[in-house]
Amino acid sequence: MTLVAPHKKAKALKNGSRRPAKELCSECGLCDTYYVHYVKEACAFIHQQVAELEEQAHSRSRDLDSSNELYFGVHLDMMAAKKKQPIDGAQWTGIVSTIACEMLTQGFVEGVVCVQNTQEDRFQPAPILARTPEEILAARVNKPTLSPNLSVLEEIEKSGMKRLLVIGVGCQIQALRAVEKQLGLEKLYILGTPCVDNVSRAGLQKFLETTSKSPDTVVHYEFMQDFRVHFKHEDGSIEKVPFFGLNTKELKDVFAPSCMSCFDYVNSLADLVVGYMGAPFGWQWILIRNETGREMLELVQDQLDTQPVMSSGDRKAAVQNSIPAYDKGVTLPMWAAKMMGIVIEKIGPKGLEYARFSIDSHFTRNYLYLKRNYPEKLESHVPEYAKRIVSQYELPEK
Ligand code: FAD
Ligand code: SF4
Repeated sequence: MTLVAPHKKAKALKNGSRRPAKELCSECGLCDTYYVHYVKEACAFIHQQVAELEEQAHSRSRDLDSSNELYFGVHLDMMAAKKKQPIDGAQWTGIVSTIACEMLTQGFVEGVVCVQNTQEDRFQPAPILARTPEEILAARVNKPTLSPNLSVLEEIEKSGMKRLLVIGVGCQIQALRAVEKQLGLEKLYILGTPCVDNVSRAGLQKFLETTSKSPDTVVHYEFMQDFRVHFKHEDGSIEKVPFFGLNTKELKDVFAPSCMSCFDYVNSLADLVVGYMGAPFGWQWILIRNETGREMLELVQDQLDTQPVMSSGDRKAAVQNSIPAYDKGVTLPMWAAKMMGIVIEKIGPKGLEYARFSIDSHFTRNYLYLKRNYPEKLESHVPEYAKRIVSQYELPEK
């Protein structure tokens, strides 16, 4: 359901108070503003409405009979890309920050919603409405924690801005699309990233302490296409830990319940999506969803090397085998995990097939999580595309 004027306001919920989505809340920030009035229709975890919002954002919902759209959502084009001159300290090569800076300096928008970190803690998110390229660049790199990006929405109306860019992950963008018409903007641009397995700040600490040899010096990390987690440390060194060596038993409850029940990995409602998982190692992956997204990418085209997307390997057996292994919390000894990582990297899925591997593994896990913990939500919360993806696999009865 799309919300239409008149714009109603309610009192923002107090910091730390229980949110309407209860433990499923991803702290997207909507409830920190007077737009909490719309929470029952807008919250991604209370009212799943991806197909309707795709129709609103892209003029059609995804074609479920096209294998690429089933997985990656509505798109006009896809490619692999990297910046000719990467931005130092960005998560990958800094395509997201570059697009945002160009949109601001070329006058396409008056402000950009993005997320910096607090002064005391590099992983504690501090959302801002940036008005200068310096502020945007200070928001580069992932804050791998739930981030209330939408908490700055009230500022937008107060500032009188009419043209805005919002950078965000799927759950933030779903709520944003649902209240888009209430924001009083002439033009809203949305630049999304894929997102999965996010954590609270406390959960992040547990993950770092369980997995890295030096948790206090980690600057950023990523679950890479070579089936290893890459931790970048303050001194520039990279520590690589194979996925198959992760302590799944310890880590089982580390991911936020919202992320364990999310089926919008690829940020279906953004105009343009910049990730990495559908691209060869070292490249970023771009999905242009609509003409607005194309316009945004064109602003930085001359700063990018690009190549077509590729796909090789077969993910299906690896996904099917991972289902009981995850369920039982199987952890391989490190030597075996390393061997397995090397073999899978050589013969395993690559490019778009790697992206499908990651989507399948997470959707099957999340479907089971929902079935066990929120059976009453299963039917309405899982979008049709996710039901079709999950139905390719055999899941345990209970
Ligand atoms: P940069 O130029 O470094 O800019 C990063 C931007 O991300 C900044 O503008 C900042 O405002 C925004 N941001 C940072 N943290 C958050 C947050 N918590 N919530 C909302 N916005 C934030 N891509 C994949 O292909 N597969 C994945 O599994 C995947 N998982 C991700 C998980 C998380 C929690 C996040 C935040 C991103 C994930 N991505 C994933 C996207 C990917 O890691 C990069 O962010 C993306 O490729 C952009 O890189 P960049 O160098 O262009 O970004
Ligand atoms: Fe509110 Fe967002 Fe939490 Fe839903 S996810 S309850 S909209 S803060």
